[in-house]
Amino acid sequence: MSDVAREAMEYDVVIVGAGPAGLSAAIRLKQLDADLEVVVLEKGSEVGAHILSGAVLDPCGLDALIPDWKDKGAPINVPVRDDNFYMLGEAGKVRIPNWPMPKLMNNHGNYIVSMGNVCRWMAEQAEALGVEIFPGMACSELVYGENGEVKGVIAGEFGRNPDGSEGPGYEPGMELHGKYVFLGEGVRGHLSKEVIAKYDLSAGKEPQKFGLGLKEIWEIDPAKHREGSVTHTMGWPLGGNAGGGSFIYHLDNNQVYVGFVVHQNYKNPHLFPYMEFQRFKHHPMVAELLKGGKRVAYGARAITEGGYQSMPKMVAPGVALLGCSVGMVNVPRIKGNHNAMLSGKAAAEAAYDAIKAERAGDELSAYETEVREGAIGKDLKKVRNVKPMWSKWGLTASLALGGLDMWTNSLFGGSLFGTLKHGKSDAEATQTVYHHKPIDYPKPDGKLSFDRLTNVAFSFTNHEESQPCHLRLLDPSVPIDENLPKYAEPAQRYCPAGVYEVVEKDGRSEFVINFQNCVHCKTCDIKDPSQNIKWVTPQGGDGPNYPNM
Ligand SMILES: Cc1cc2nc3c(=O)[nH]c(=O)nc-3n(C[C@H](O)[C@H](O)[C@H](O)COP(=O)(O)OP(=O)(O)OC[C@H]3O[C@@H](n4cnc5c(N)ncnc54)[C@H](O)[C@@H]3O)c2cc1C
Repeated sequence: MSDVAREAMEYDVVIVGAGPAGLSAAIRLKQLDADLEVVVLEKGSEVGAHILSGAVLDPCGLDALIPDWKDKGAPINVPVRDDNFYMLGEAGKVRIPNWPMPKLMNNHGNYIVSMGNVCRWMAEQAEALGVEIFPGMACSELVYGENGEVKGVIAGEFGRNPDGSEGPGYEPGMELHGKYVFLGEGVRGHLSKEVIAKYDLSAGKEPQKFGLGLKEIWEIDPAKHREGSVTHTMGWPLGGNAGGGSFIYHLDNNQVYVGFVVHQNYKNPHLFPYMEFQRFKHHPMVAELLKGGKRVAYGARAITEGGYQSMPKMVAPGVALLGCSVGMVNVPRIKGNHNAMLSGKAAAEAAYDAIKAERAGDELSAYETEVREGAIGKDLKKVRNVKPMWSKWGLTASLALGGLDMWTNSLFGGSLFGTLKHGKSDAEATQTVYHHKPIDYPKPDGKLSFDRLTNVAFSFTNHEESQPCHLRLLDPSVPIDENLPKYAEPAQRYCPAGVYEVVEKDGRSEFVINFQNCVHCKTCDIKDPSQNIKWVTPQGGDGPNYPNM
C-alpha cells in the first residue's frame, strides 16, 4: 500500500462497483436496516458508463430484490417475443428448432434491456434508500487491517504524473473503511485478482475461462425491426478457429444490439476477434438486416465462462467477491446479470446478520454457502459441462452432448460426465506462430464493417493523458523479445480497442501502448501468453462512456 497520508471514512459496508451485483448488495442492505452506512464506488464517469451487457435479462434476480420493479418504473419494457437459433455457413444458415433445447435455454419471460439503463435506475433506488453512490471514484488499492483482513479501499486518487510522481493538482483520495468490503468489479477485477491471489482462493478450483464480447448498437430501418426478437448464431465465421457466436437483440426505438463473443481459449495467435465480428456482419442474414441502418455505439468487455467449477472461494477475512468478480455467467444462456443480482442480495444478507451479531472483518461464509447451494449454484451446475465439451470436442459434438447433458442435469440432477475440467488457462491455450497460418481478413467497407479506431470513437472513451499508463508491463522487454517472434505479438489483434501496436522505429521494433483507447475489457490481462500485462485502474471517470449499452 502507498504511504501517502489520507483521510479515512468509516462505513458498515464499502462496495466497489456499481454494476448489478454491487447495486443489489447496496439496496438489500438498506432494505434490511435503513441505519446501515453503505457506500458504492464506481470508476465510470456515471453509473452505467462502463456497463456493456447485451442484454437479455432473466428477471428472477430483480424479482427477488425489488418485486414491484414494474410499478417503480424499471426500464424493462421489451419482453422477448421470439427466440431463434441458427448455425451459419459462409452464405447460408440452418435454423436449429427450439423443441430439442432444454427449458433453461428458453428466453420467454425474459426482457431485452439496456443494462446500463437498468443500473442507472437501480442506483436511483439505492439512493432513495440512503445509499451513498460516488461515480468517478476508482478504487485503486485495498487497505488491510492489523490481522491481515481487508478493511477498506483507497478511492479517488487523481493527478499523478506519467512517471508516477505527484503532479501539481495531486489529490490523494480517501480511505474508505468498512466492517465488510464487497468487490463487485465484474470480470477480472484488479482488486479481486489481488484478493484471490493473496488468500489463495482459487486453490483446488479449475482456472477461470473467458470470452471477449464485442457489441454495437444499430438503428435500423423500421420496416426490418422486430421488437422483442432474439437471435443467436454459431458457426461462420469462426468455424474451427475458435469457439463463440453472435447475438442480435431487437430492443425498442428501432434499435438492435449486434454482438459477438469469441472464446479466449483460441490457439491461433493470428486470430483477430474484432475482425471476426466485422466479418460476421457481412453474412447475408445480418447484412440484410443492417443495410440502410447506422451504428450508433460500440464497446467490448470480457465475459466469464468458467462457470461452476471455476468459481474461486468468494470470501476472505473482511471481504466478499460478488457477481462476475468470481464468474457467475451461465454460458449457454449467455446470462450473468440475474446471478450478479442474486449474489449481491446474498452477500448483503450475510453481512447484515454478521453486523447484527457485532462481527466485523471476518469471513462471510453464509454468503459462500448460499451461492454454491442456492439458486446461483443450481443455475450454474446444470450447465457446467457445456464449455469444457466445446473446448475439447468442438462445436458440433458439444451441441449434441451439451444439449443431452443439460437435459440429464435438468431432469435427473446429475450428469453422465460428472464435472469436466477446463484444463489450461486462456493464456496457456495460445500456441506459437510455428503451428498456425496468418488469417486474411477482408478490409472493412465503412458501411457494415468499420476499422477499429473508427469504432472505438463510438465507445466515447476518454482518458486523461498525463497520468501513469494503467496497462503495466511486468517486464518491458517481453512484447518484442518473446511475444513478437513466438506469437506475432497477439496484443495487436486481441485488443478490441487498438491499444497495442508494434511499430518500426530506427530499424527496430517498438511496442506502443495507446492506453487512452482502453475500453476496460481486461482481455490483455487475460490473454497475454506471457501474462506480462497487468491491468490496474486509471483515474476515476476515465474509460468508455457507453450511452445505453
Ligand atoms: C458482450 C456481453 C454480453 C452479455 N450479455 C448478457 C445478457 O444478455 N444477459 C445477461 O444476463 N448477462 C449478459 N452478460 C454478462 C453480464 O454482463 C455479467 O454477468 C454482469 O455484468 C456481471 O455483473 P457485475 O455487477 O458482477 O459486473 P459488471 O456489470 O461488470 O459491473 C462492474 C462495475 O464495477 C466497476 N468497477 C470495476 N472495478 C472497479 C474499481 N476498481 N473501482 C471502482 N469501480 C470499479 C465497473 O466500472 C462496473 O461498473 C454479457 C456480457 C458481455 C460481455
